[in-house]
Amino acid sequence: MSYRDSRKMRVLFAASEAVPFVKTGGLGDVAGSLPRALNAAGADVSVILPKYGSIPHEYQDQMRHVAEFYVPLAWRNVYCGIEKLTYKGVTFYFVDNEAYFKRDGIYGYFDDGERYAFFSKAICEAIQNVPELQVDILQCNDWQTAMAPVFLREFYQGSLACRNVKTIFTVHNVKFQGQFSDKVLQDILGLADNPTAASQLYVDRDSVNYMKGALLYSDLITTVSPSYASELQMPFYGEGMDAIFRRRSSSLRGILNGIDVDTWNPATDPLISHRYAVDDMGPKAQDKAELQRELGLAEDPTRPLVVMIGRLTNQKGLGLVRYAMNRLMDRGVQVAILGTGDKDQEDAFKYFDWTYGDRMAARIAFDNALSHRMYAGGDILLMPSEFEPCGLSQMIAMRYGTLPVVRETGGLQDSVVPYNKFTGEGTGFRFANMNADEMADCLLGACEVFWTDHDAWAKLQRQAMEADFSWDRAADEYLGIYHDLHPEIDR
Ligand code: ADP
Repeated sequence: MSYRDSRKMRVLFAASEAVPFVKTGGLGDVAGSLPRALNAAGADVSVILPKYGSIPHEYQDQMRHVAEFYVPLAWRNVYCGIEKLTYKGVTFYFVDNEAYFKRDGIYGYFDDGERYAFFSKAICEAIQNVPELQVDILQCNDWQTAMAPVFLREFYQGSLACRNVKTIFTVHNVKFQGQFSDKVLQDILGLADNPTAASQLYVDRDSVNYMKGALLYSDLITTVSPSYASELQMPFYGEGMDAIFRRRSSSLRGILNGIDVDTWNPATDPLISHRYAVDDMGPKAQDKAELQRELGLAEDPTRPLVVMIGRLTNQKGLGLVRYAMNRLMDRGVQVAILGTGDKDQEDAFKYFDWTYGDRMAARIAFDNALSHRMYAGGDILLMPSEFEPCGLSQMIAMRYGTLPVVRETGGLQDSVVPYNKFTGEGTGFRFANMNADEMADCLLGACEVFWTDHDAWAKLQRQAMEADFSWDRAADEYLGIYHDLHPEIDR
């Protein structure tokens, strides 16, 4: 390019959920926080998401109608309204079609393949038809928006508004890919008579995969931690897409998510009884004593209190915890778990709660307030995940001076610095293999420091609490890659 452009980078962030409107998982947190941080860092970011019936009325009432048009889906034209509101300085656009999105739930319907193909096409139509929506970068997230980069290239290249749009596809969890019968090519995607495009989507004789399309069509692929970016290229983690990640490895980047450091702050957290900070750790002991009382654990400051907070699914490495539980109990460790998920996991931990009396507590619930009390009152957070694209719990725990014990995978490996007993460096403890004894050795090693070396423990807590997990750091890295794609726009 021979000219420089001194305007802000204009980014449209497309996601199927965003806090505070709708959230089922980590993607909702990212879409709710990252755009604000990007704007603060000097970009011009807006967000586009479906207008679900379940969005609270206080927000629906603030939405303003900005456009309406028809979205071509194969042989049909489907109505689409665009509404918008501004929340904490970020403009959110909502794609309105009551037949698709005014339902009780979010995902899990028989026609999800059609609903999110519609959403992805509506994003392209919005870029083309809504004059105020001027876009340099379209950043899509997970399979629900994966068809947008495909549609943009196949149907919108001739449009002035779309021609220079660069696309990024961000993988939050490769397990969910949006795979459907190839009938969608004819009836929904409109790609049946485009064999080149169709062949990019096929994964077997009669199924097509939306995520595969995004991985092949996007200008750049990102994921939520550098280690997960490497792991995605391995068969063990890649869920059948590893060969494609390998093929595109020069266009694949990993950027660690942040956490909302205002919500998660032990110095100001309204949900804990005794607030504390790096230079005033005394009250944390009171939070621990209160938590032990609340959970029916022995009120004893010398017992390390190990907490676990999260979905009770196989991903989280709970098999290791179950196997090691007896050994941990024998050594005088306390374990408290908060979560919901698979029934057999829930039952196993309820059984431990019943068996081990005042040494083990299981709360099978989703309870945000209790999670705050556990992050504050715990000594150690255990997270032995089989895979973990980023993981938020370990970052939150560090902010509360609750030292993480994690398996070396994905974002756990990228956010927890292992303890080095010679230099005192570190923010937690790590082990490598999916092996219960290895996990227990690591956890009991941490307890040993807790019991015998108070200075080392205090230093680790300080280092963990001072680590930077803010969105500002992540936003800076995203801005960097936006400028890689549009070097003509000034930073
Ligand atoms: P994932 O996205 O795989 O579920 P993360 O560690 O990235 O795991 O994020 C989980 C988030 O949800 C954390 O903020 C955690 O505190 C919260 N959370 C998970 N389960 C519960 C629960 N049962 N009660 C309260 N908060 C929970």
